[in-house]
This record gives sequence, C-alpha cells and structure tokens, in this order.
Amino acid sequence: MNKVRTRFAPSPTGYVHVGNVRTALHSYLVARHGKGDFVLRIEDTDQKRFVDGAERVVLETLQWLGLDWDEGPELDGSEKGAYGPYHQTARKENYLKWAQVLIGKGLAYADPYTPEQVEQFRAEAKAAKKAFLYRDYRPENPPEWDGSRPLRFKVPELKRYEWDDAVMGHLSAGPEALDDFILIKSDGLPTYNFAHVVDDHEMKITHVIRGQEYIASMPKYLSLYDALEFERPVFACEAHIMAPDGNKKLGKRDGAKSVTEYRDAGYLPEAMLNFLASLGWNDGTEQEIFSKEELIEKFTLERVQKSGARFDEKRLVWMNGQWIKQLELDDLYERVHGFWGPAGQKASAAGQKAVLAVVQDRLKTLADLPSLTEYFFTEPKPNWQMVDSNKQLSKLPRTEHTKLLEQATHALEAADFNSEEALQSALNELLAETGQKPPVLFGLVRFALTWAQFSPGLPETMHLLGRERTLARLQVAIDKA
Ligand code: GLU
Repeated sequence: MNKVRTRFAPSPTGYVHVGNVRTALHSYLVARHGKGDFVLRIEDTDQKRFVDGAERVVLETLQWLGLDWDEGPELDGSEKGAYGPYHQTARKENYLKWAQVLIGKGLAYADPYTPEQVEQFRAEAKAAKKAFLYRDYRPENPPEWDGSRPLRFKVPELKRYEWDDAVMGHLSAGPEALDDFILIKSDGLPTYNFAHVVDDHEMKITHVIRGQEYIASMPKYLSLYDALEFERPVFACEAHIMAPDGNKKLGKRDGAKSVTEYRDAGYLPEAMLNFLASLGWNDGTEQEIFSKEELIEKFTLERVQKSGARFDEKRLVWMNGQWIKQLELDDLYERVHGFWGPAGQKASAAGQKAVLAVVQDRLKTLADLPSLTEYFFTEPKPNWQMVDSNKQLSKLPRTEHTKLLEQATHALEAADFNSEEALQSALNELLAETGQKPPVLFGLVRFALTWAQFSPGLPETMHLLGRERTLARLQVAIDKA
C-alpha cells in the first residue's frame, strides 16, 4: 500500500470559506488517520482572480485550527517538502513536460482560432440548434505549439466514464461532459483541469478530496489520467454545506464567514474544528464533542454523508460554549486576552481571573466577555427599562419593585458574604418572606446588581462583588427607580 497522502489545494482568491476549510480538515484527518502526509498546494494559476495576501490568510487559518501540514509553503515565505515547488506558478516546467508527452502522443494541439472565429463557430452551432463543441472544429493541420496559443487536449475517446467516489459511491458520466479543453493558456499557465492532475500525480497524492462541484468535470480528469497513464487516486467529493434553512448552498449572506472572522468573534479553534468536522459526518454514535485526537482516530470518508449538511450556527455556538467550559482557568485566561471590556482590561490579573472563573460556564463566545463582566469592574448605570420590558417583572408596580429591593437589602445586611451557601440561604429566606416566585425576586435583584441581560448566579455574583458593593448597588437602584 502506498503511504496515504492528501492535499489541500486552495486558490488564493480571497477569504477562506468555511466549506473549503471543512474539506481541508477532512483531508487532514484522512492523512493523520492513515499516518500519512498532508500537503498544502497553492493553485495560483488564475492571475485574474489572484488576491494579494490571500495565501497568508490560508496559512494562518490552517495554523489557527491546528491543521499542521507536512509539505507546502510556510508563513516565512519558505517551502518545506520533497515534492515542491508547492505554488503552481512555480511549476511551469512540470506542466510543460506532460504537455509535451500529450503532444507526442498526438493528444494535444495548438488552438489556431481567433476569438472572432470561435464566436462564429458558436453562432453556427446555435443556428443548427447544437451545443458548441471544440472537438467538432479540430484543425486538420494545427500550427506547431510555440506557447503563444492555448494548447488544447484532444479528448481521445468519447466514452462514458465510471468511477467510485469514496463519499458519493459509484458514479458515471457520459461523453457530453467531454470536449477539447485547454491544458495550457496563452499566458503560459496551465488550467486547473490540467495542473491539478499533473500535481496530484507528481506529488503522489492518494486521496483527492474536494467539493461536489468537481463531479461534473470528472470525465475530463479521468480522460487525462488515462491519456497520461496516471494511476487514479481515491476520489471523494463532498456535498455542499447548506444554508441554515437547508434549501440552498451556504452563501456569504447566510454567514458563510471566513474562518478568521470566527476567530475574531471569539470562537475557539477546538470548537470550530469540532463543528466543521461534524458537518456531514458522525462516528455512528450520539457523541458530539470530539477533540482533534479523537477525530483523527475516528474519521473515515465512508461515514461522510452524501447529502448536504446544514450550517447550523446555533450548534457552533453551543459547541463553543462546551469547549470554553472544559478549559482550565489559566488556559481560558490566556485566550481571552484582547476580549475584555474597557473597565475589565484595566483590572489586575487576579481580579480578571476571579471574574472569569464565575462567568466561564456562561461564556458562549469570548466576545461575550464584556457584556458578562463589565459590571464587575465598573458601577453599572441603573436601567429600569430592562425591568419594565421583562415579562414577569413588568406586571408589578414600581413601588413593589423598590419594596422588594429594600427587603433584599435588609435580608442581605446580615448575611455572610464570604460564603456562597450563606448567601443562597439568605436569598431563600427572602423568598419565603416575600412570597415571590424565584424568577421575579431573583430576576429583580440580578438587574439591580448588574443591569445586564445575562449574569452568573446570584450567590456567585454577590460573593464576588462583596457586601459593600452589593448593598450600595441595591441602594442606587432604589434611588434611581
Ligand atoms: N483550487 C481548487 C479550489 O480552490 C482546488 C480544488 C481541488 O481540491 O482539486 O477550489
């Protein structure tokens, strides 16, 4: 058996769509699962679509997710690996070599036509109600190919192709998908169709994993594999990721953000990895939280579903919360750097850690940090509107609100603020005394102490605020009612 080698072959055309990253991740997992190599190749032959800096974003994305690659470009501009170069623009010689092989076999020809002539052929085909095909206009005596014209593949056999896809199963496509496509453009650079087949062969790639949009072109690739006498790798085409409503492909408007945007919005790479790996994959059990190591152990293409998985951002948020919960406090502390609010960021490390410990279980993304913590570091402004727009609390008159807060002050004055249990029992007594429902009473006290929509449990909050600040805030709330 050949050593497993997979690749991620992005084009540096802009941001890195989550769908591409899922493919990269699955390729990575196949490589690691098979104790093989994961190769990064930059497909930069489309100069028109080239975006400066895009490659760096790809590398940073992979690095952030922990998808370490064995071969390919590095962030410092160097390259590693024995099958380079890893930029297609640096591999012109390689493509030329195989182009010459095809020319030698009579399977490639210089395209002699001008754009005007092609336009005319198209018009003819249209008038005859036929699809325009280059293969119907093959020149009898093509000019020698000097690189100034496109080199076209002379599709050798118009036949039906059949192949096995590791995800989609047995597939076939008829000859209508085949035409004399361009191998090398007049700018001297190869087309994707040609370049990737050559590269995958030369780089000894064993598993070609990519999106389902490539299925339609498979006959083209297969005819090239045959003509060049290359062994076929395992092919795996993965279904599109679907928009949250499940009806269409995930597009930019549905939050098909780039992965770096998720990073900046406070998602952990572990959660992103977990979420992306399980878009359209599970291990056959109910397990949802997987570490990278578990994914490497359990991931196989056979269990990737054929139909498109829905991009459920709520699930990502949930997973992120799960991963945040699991972190050691010191680890979390390192990761929230840069996410504190204006008051929080000025606090001491000890103060920040104490607050972090209390809110950790409630953090869904690191970006929630300010809204969940600022009121510990600075006095919040009373905002009675929050009370008035609360379904339960709005049923009571303001006089009743202030009365409850006064009762709370009274009950807490005597409590031991060093003990969360003691605070909890003081609150329970208060509940009995006032005859209120917990959401009403505790909801009100929470607002008075934090003026925030979400906050940790009351005993933890009060314990952290301490007696003086707790009582002072209750008083300010009453005063501003
Ligand atoms: N450069 C192609 C893309 O970015 C790669 C497709 C493939 O994996 O073969 O979509």
